[in-house]
Amino acid sequence: MQRARELAKRLVIVDGHIDVPYRLYEGRDGAGKLTEDVTERTEKGDFDWPRAVEGGLDAPFMSIYVPAKYQKQGGAKRLADELIDIVVDIAARAPKRFLVARTPAEVRYWAAKGKIALLLGIENGAALEGRIENVAHFHGRGVRYVTLTHGKDNDLGDSSYDESRTHKGLSELGRRVVAEMNRLGMMVDVSHVSDATLLQVLAHSRAPVIASHSSCRHFTPGFERNVSDDLIREIAARGGVVMLNFGSAFLDDAARRAWDAAYDEAEALAGKLGVEPSDARVKAFWRERQGRLPRVTVERVADHVDHVVKLVGIEHVGLGSDFDGVGASLPHGLEDVSRYPNLLYVLLRRGYTEEQLDKICSGNVLRVWEAVEEHARPKKKDKKKGEVAPSPSR
Ligand SMILES: [Zn+2]
Repeated sequence: MQRARELAKRLVIVDGHIDVPYRLYEGRDGAGKLTEDVTERTEKGDFDWPRAVEGGLDAPFMSIYVPAKYQKQGGAKRLADELIDIVVDIAARAPKRFLVARTPAEVRYWAAKGKIALLLGIENGAALEGRIENVAHFHGRGVRYVTLTHGKDNDLGDSSYDESRTHKGLSELGRRVVAEMNRLGMMVDVSHVSDATLLQVLAHSRAPVIASHSSCRHFTPGFERNVSDDLIREIAARGGVVMLNFGSAFLDDAARRAWDAAYDEAEALAGKLGVEPSDARVKAFWRERQGRLPRVTVERVADHVDHVVKLVGIEHVGLGSDFDGVGASLPHGLEDVSRYPNLLYVLLRRGYTEEQLDKICSGNVLRVWEAVEEHARPKKKDKKKGEVAPSPSR
């Protein structure tokens, strides 16, 4: 355990998906002021500065989460900008502890200096509001990945959770957005999309992709939100990485069924009361109910690491906890960002070397990110002909 703690401190740890911005946004008081300060220890939630330091976390992707309801009611881009403001503000309030980083080189540099590099990833391409130029807008604000969909089909493509299958995969606009992300150097995130969307993204993207917070479907048969063995192979064949979600319902079939049934109960209650799921009575029911639902242990996350490694090797697995997004379903031993050493401990005991753990903790995703940057960079002048070679992204 001593060695695991020491490794967590020394290795760079990048987490693909932490829902801090939306947690803070939802927790605002009546006047719209934030009620939690993650630059200090917080009572609630899975992330704050002291716990991140304890866990050795160096660079979490802060999820700029746009719920699917904004696709209908409008305001998706505005919400995304407000959530980015919240992250920028965290760094501005505690500049000795945090900064917003935009490149893998910055992540490595600041990890060595002991600052936490906040990274930006948009969850739900609806934030683009159907306008290609908004990809550049968000890239300019520091966003380095976009999860194309969330829980419902949107104008970019189909979601794993939505049975409508509106576009039978990636839409025409989705293809143009992928091309624009390739051109600018943003990672395409295939968590949440349907299998057809994922395959079509792989066919159209010129750079490798990530799944920022998805686990292995092998352990949750039929659960399309996780990545199947065939799709893990496809992602890996193109150099990408699957960053594992820590939620018990993502890791284990029995847990998933229990959590699903409880969601259905909560929805039925909302229906019976004629209220939104966000109603206080439904929330109270849910709080009480989820305390009694099954949770796996940290060993189960290691099982998923083993599975990806067995399928495609050590180069294609990473960590995408979904801290602050999956709440009470987090495994015993991985309750918050202070607990990464427990996972390293289990992996060490299973025989993983320091070099391999480095790849899992950050090496793999930083390699993908660098490849995405490389694809975006215009080719240098061809000296022999004195011409500018065509950009690989066109
Ligand atoms: Zn998500």
